[in-house]
Amino acid sequence: MKKISIIIPCYNEQDNIGTLYDALSKIMDGNDGYSWNVLLINDGSIDNTLHEIKRIRNKDKRIGYIDLSRNFGKENAMLAGFDNVSGDCAIIMDADMQHPPHVIPEMIKLWEEGFDDVYAERESRGKESFMRKHLSLLYYKILEKTARMDVLPNVGDFRLLDRKCIESVKKLRETQRYTKGLFCWIGFRKGKVTFRQGDRNEGKSSFSYFKLFNLAIEGITSYTTAPLRISTIMGILVSFLTIIYMFYVFIKTILIGEPVQGFPTIIIIVLFLGGIQLLSLGIIGEYLGRVFYETKNRPVYLIAEKECPE
Ligand code: UDP
Ligand code: MG
Repeated sequence: MKKISIIIPCYNEQDNIGTLYDALSKIMDGNDGYSWNVLLINDGSIDNTLHEIKRIRNKDKRIGYIDLSRNFGKENAMLAGFDNVSGDCAIIMDADMQHPPHVIPEMIKLWEEGFDDVYAERESRGKESFMRKHLSLLYYKILEKTARMDVLPNVGDFRLLDRKCIESVKKLRETQRYTKGLFCWIGFRKGKVTFRQGDRNEGKSSFSYFKLFNLAIEGITSYTTAPLRISTIMGILVSFLTIIYMFYVFIKTILIGEPVQGFPTIIIIVLFLGGIQLLSLGIIGEYLGRVFYETKNRPVYLIAEKECPE
């Protein structure tokens, strides 16, 4: 009998876990011919999430958990899940019911048809501000153009991975993780299901604009060096224009002389070039920072306590 594992990263989800467990067990028990278990990753929650998880484990040993030593972020929590999961395939989903469990049988069907990585694309994005939606769409466009990789918009982390894919993702140990891109990077046969993303059940999203901005920079700097290329191109362009302008000034001075003037031009040019230089330094710094973190070679997460599911 094939075993299906479900990985759920949880950060302050005390009010959602019970609901999710009920919904999941109803769906999975109705799915004959498979055994299943759930691996919950408690990502340093500061509420009663762990307590709630243990309560559920006490009545159902198919529920296991990993308690991380502090909050490592969802991306790292997911890797902890991959490292410890036992199923023939794994399904990753959010704890807040935004990823409806009723899509799971459909995913399993595609998996049986031979797809190794079945991702769920959302038809609607649930309650989300106009700005957040459009910024995120713009971001994917940029990432796709620069990274030469099909990063799909409207696809979150809700997906089913075959053992092969899990083993592949486990090999990618970078500390600054952008898992969504990693799934694209590993390749394999991808299948698609669609779902309607609901609204968060209880609590509020832990991804603020600032966090999303950081994740966005993470995404770009992990998959492409295009920004470095852009600053090179900008440098070439500005130097080229400067040479033309230099000839112009030189010839003009020789032919008609040059009374001292041009304060505004100088200020503008100095500020403009200063801006470009700072930007380029920032871009280099962004990459250097990543190198700095990766060379430390620290573990991606630390486990405080672990109970594997049956
Ligand atoms: N999450 C996590 N660690 C964090 C932040 C979030 O494990 O530091 C989990 C959270 O419990 C949820 C999932 O990641 O299961 C998605 O988080 P959230 O719903 O806050 O994000 P959104 O749906 O707004 O993108
Ligand atoms: Mg959510």
